[in-house]
Amino acid sequence: MPIVDGFVQGIAKKTLKHVGSAQAPTLLVIHYSVTNTVAQAVNALNERGLSYHVLIEKDGKAFQTRPFTQTALHPGLSNWKAGAGVDFGASVMKNSIGICLMNMGFDVKSVPAANVGAGKLIYNPNDRSMQRWETFPAAQVATCTSIAKEIIKAFPISEVVGHHDVAIMGKFDPGPLFDLTALNALITAPKPPGFKTTVASKDGSLSLKMSERRKAVLLGGRYVNEVAIPLWSSARLDKWPVAPKGDLTAIRAEELAEGNRPSRLIPKCQITGDHEAVFFQRLKANLPPKVEIENYSSSIYHGRMRPDGVCDPTPYTVTVSAPDADGIAKVAYFLRTDPFIRQIDSQESQVLWDGRLMVKFRMMAAP
Ligand SMILES: [Zn+2]
Repeated sequence: MPIVDGFVQGIAKKTLKHVGSAQAPTLLVIHYSVTNTVAQAVNALNERGLSYHVLIEKDGKAFQTRPFTQTALHPGLSNWKAGAGVDFGASVMKNSIGICLMNMGFDVKSVPAANVGAGKLIYNPNDRSMQRWETFPAAQVATCTSIAKEIIKAFPISEVVGHHDVAIMGKFDPGPLFDLTALNALITAPKPPGFKTTVASKDGSLSLKMSERRKAVLLGGRYVNEVAIPLWSSARLDKWPVAPKGDLTAIRAEELAEGNRPSRLIPKCQITGDHEAVFFQRLKANLPPKVEIENYSSSIYHGRMRPDGVCDPTPYTVTVSAPDADGIAKVAYFLRTDPFIRQIDSQESQVLWDGRLMVKFRMMAAP
């Protein structure tokens, strides 16, 4: 089923309300829908003005909504190995193709038990309902693979990523039970350098790792064996996005609704004021010139230690201002490599009256 005029031949078409604009695809992004059927997905997408290029039923039947040479609104707030001119979302939405598999993710209440696989969200050990994931049926994966093959043949696709790889915040899909490695193996050209997450695992537990450690050494001045869990985080950004041009409120609200933000779910932590003080000294010592700390969390909790001695992380924020994006990027790099910070969830940016950039980092801290 070759691609002609941007359409995979031989698959059904489906019209969505959202209309894209011209693009030249270089990235393939895989999603799940959190619906059981394409009909349900189409309703949800139209209600929210979102879109994917391809929707695949659990039995493998596929629908295409537009030519691949038009954008679809699927990545939300996102970024992927972007270089200069990083802007919220722009680097991924433009020039990417979104394939969405009908799958409930970890919302498995409506899924037959036989189709629920293993799964464990490591940032939320107490929520049993989130520890199982719906499996992807072989027929569905087969369709996805053959469409991906055609896309890779027709366009200069550099990588196949999950939405969880590129999302700054939002849905964690397609999650640990989808094998992105197999799709990436279809691409023979060398992958562009940069951070990459690895989530697929045999038991379905998430094990996100920075696979590109060299970068951490060069930029952080410190060897990082394994940087923990950039879920929903911008930890993979090579540059930090600042001063968004558009109003992000709508995107945030939309992503939050089904995004299952970890900050709400993680219980209190046993981080002490001592841990925080030491971290704060390190932060101050590593501040780039002309960067100032405007504010930081003062409510450090004394919480729970897991039986294995591991700390549960706790929400923590730091707000800094800087004369330019470079200063913000350096602080972001420090935060995502400092051992006190488990992950960066999100950031809010604004331009101050004097032109300085102010960014509030929302993070998970754990000693
Ligand atoms: Zn997605």
